[in-house]
Amino acid sequence: MERKYYRDTWAEINLDAISANVRSLRSHLPGKTEIMAVVKADGYGHGAYQAAVTALNAGATWLGVALLDEALELREQGVQAPILVMGWVRPKDVAVAAEHHISLTVFQEEWLDQAQAYLPSYQMLFLHLKVDTGMGRIGVRTVGELDGVIEKIKSDRQFILEGVFTHFSTADEDDPTYFNLQYRTFNHFLSQLQNHKVNPNIVHCGNSAAALKHADKMFNAVRYGIAMYGLSPGKDMNAHLPFPLEEAFSLKSQIIHVKKMNRGEAISYGATYYTNGEEWIGTVPIGYGDGWPRRLQDAELLVGEHRCPVVGRICMDQLMCRLPEAVPIGTPVTLIGSSPSGSDGIAVGDIAEELETIPYEIPCMINARVPRLYFKNKGHMDE
Ligand SMILES: *Cc1c(COP(=O)(O)O)cnc(C)c1O
Repeated sequence: MERKYYRDTWAEINLDAISANVRSLRSHLPGKTEIMAVVKADGYGHGAYQAAVTALNAGATWLGVALLDEALELREQGVQAPILVMGWVRPKDVAVAAEHHISLTVFQEEWLDQAQAYLPSYQMLFLHLKVDTGMGRIGVRTVGELDGVIEKIKSDRQFILEGVFTHFSTADEDDPTYFNLQYRTFNHFLSQLQNHKVNPNIVHCGNSAAALKHADKMFNAVRYGIAMYGLSPGKDMNAHLPFPLEEAFSLKSQIIHVKKMNRGEAISYGATYYTNGEEWIGTVPIGYGDGWPRRLQDAELLVGEHRCPVVGRICMDQLMCRLPEAVPIGTPVTLIGSSPSGSDGIAVGDIAEELETIPYEIPCMINARVPRLYFKNKGHMDE
C-alpha cells in the first residue's frame, strides 16, 4: 500500500514495461537460462519490491541485490524467491543471511574461516563463488585463490557452493576483444572447478548487455538489471537491441504558480537570469533536494505539450521555467517520460546525456522524497 502523499511531484513506474522487458528476454534466451532480476539500489530507483514481484511474475526466478540489508528488506516484505547478495557481506552477518535463506558471494578464504565461527551449527550457508576475470572489483583472481576457497568450502558441510559467477566490464561495447578475454578466463576457472569435482548448480556471467548480445553463451542464468527497466546498457547497443525495450520510469510534476513578468526582472538565486521582455514564468515544485541537480538548468521540461527552458538557478525544492503563454495552475509538467498526448517525450537517456553520465544514474538519483506511483494493466494500482 502506498502512503498517501501531499505534493505535486512524483515518479510513475510502469510495471507493465518491466513485465514486458522480462518476457522479451525470456523468449530471447535459451529455455535453460534463468533470469535473476537485479533490484539493488531500490530497483535502480524504481522500487525494489514492486520491481521484484513484477519480474518474478513475468518469468524471473532469482533476485540479485548488492547489500544484505536490501535482501532482508525484500524478505520482510514477504518475498520468498531465492536472493543473491552480489556484494561483500561481513562474516559476522552470515547467521542473518542463513536464517533468511539469502545466498552470499564468496571469494576470500579468510572470510570463510571467520564465517564458520559465526554460523550456528544447525544452519547452512548458500554461496556463489565470484571470479574476477578482468573487472578488477571483487572475486578470486588466481587458480591458487580459487583452490583455497574451494577446499575451505568442501571442508565444512554447512557451506553449500550453489553458484559461480563473474562480471564483464565491457559487454555493452562494440569491440568484443576484452569481453572474449574475460569469457575465456571464466571458462578456465570453470574447468578448475571440474578438477575439484564441484559442480555448482548455477553458473552465471551475464549482465543485461551480455544477455542481450550473447544469449547463447550465458550458461544457466543471467543477471538482468538496466534493460529490465527499459534502459539500454550502453550507447553502442542502441542501434542493435534484439527486442525493443520499454522505459518504466517517468517523472512528473505540475505548475504551481504562474506570473507575467516585465522586461528586465531577475529570477532565482544569484539573479543570473533577466527577462528579455514580458515573459510568462511558471514555478515547478522540484529541485536538487529531490535529486534534480542544479546542473540540469539547461534541460528542457514539457509543460503540457510545450518544451520550456528552465530559467535561473534550480533551487532545493523548486525551479522556474519560461512558458509560451499563461497556463492554468495544475498544468502537467513532464521532466522524464511522454507528454500528456504522447506526441513528445523526454527519455532517461536525454537527461543522462545532459549530465554527461549513463542512464543507470538517472532513476537512482531521484531520491526518496519523490513518491513512486505504480501503474499496472495501464492503470494506477490504487485505483
Ligand atoms: C548491478 C549488477 C548487475 C546488473 O547489471 P546491468 O548492467 O544493470 O544489467 C549484474 N551483475 C552484478 C554483479 C551487478 O553488480
